[in-house]
Amino acid sequence: MLRAVYHQLARSTAWYRYTTPWSGFHSTPQTIVKGNMKVKIIPALDDNYMYLITDEETNITAAVDPVQPDKLMEDAKKDGLEISMVLTTHHHWDHAGGNKEIAGKIPKLTVYGGDDRIDALTNKVEHGSQFKIGSLSVECLFTPCHTKGHICYFIKGKNEDEDLAVFTGDTLFVGGCGKFFEGEPEQMYNALVKTLGVLPSNTKVYCGHEYTVSNLKYALHVEPENTNTVNKMEWAKEKRKANVPTVPSTIGEEFKFNPFMRVEDECILKYSKCSSAVEAMGFLRSEKNNFKPKM
Ligand SMILES: [Zn+2]
Repeated sequence: MLRAVYHQLARSTAWYRYTTPWSGFHSTPQTIVKGNMKVKIIPALDDNYMYLITDEETNITAAVDPVQPDKLMEDAKKDGLEISMVLTTHHHWDHAGGNKEIAGKIPKLTVYGGDDRIDALTNKVEHGSQFKIGSLSVECLFTPCHTKGHICYFIKGKNEDEDLAVFTGDTLFVGGCGKFFEGEPEQMYNALVKTLGVLPSNTKVYCGHEYTVSNLKYALHVEPENTNTVNKMEWAKEKRKANVPTVPSTIGEEFKFNPFMRVEDECILKYSKCSSAVEAMGFLRSEKNNFKPKM
């Protein structure tokens, strides 16, 4: 009853966040509600995130990168949710490694993904593929580079101007991006600037790992004077001290402090001594691969 009143109250404001007790993982699970879209952030392994996306109208629920199915299903059960689909960002084991197990446990599970190397795949998607999670609409964005078949999932709630989220796997992180294991700088430029960067600036960014503090150390090395970066670092350190996830950020925020999103900015071009954004993307990635922060 109390919970229902709280939900009702909270729903009258634009969005709210609540926390469940910490269970010994790297972060405390959190739930974020925006309109009819509910996202539960669930820590996994050392620094991965799994997510449950629920359409609150129908209770239909999708899991993103369920690498630890038992943990995820326990969280879903606690909230009275039944998972009926899996959204896989890419084939790496720390994202898709739980697919076989969860498919064995949930009959008729639909598993989406953009790469034949993804275990238990039932529905292969490509750029522009669309499907529904109840009343939520999902659009698949092809973002190859970290892996050849990487997909980000852009999700809209009923209020299409406001209830927006993108699940970016290992393409875009808060303050950084994934390594270019199977791609070139131009592909990451296209993924970050041309594909994810054109989403509405209030789109919430839910990424695959808790790497924010370490990413921002590099961002501050590149732009020590950027007050957005300085402030975000201060904020992120506080959150991590309390085991609170630093996701989600927003697309608009990322353009303010993420050097890989800012490759078209004069400051980044000057820093990298590059004449094009694509070249700067390559420079930043290789510099960060060898970066050892002093702090
Ligand atoms: Zn990966």
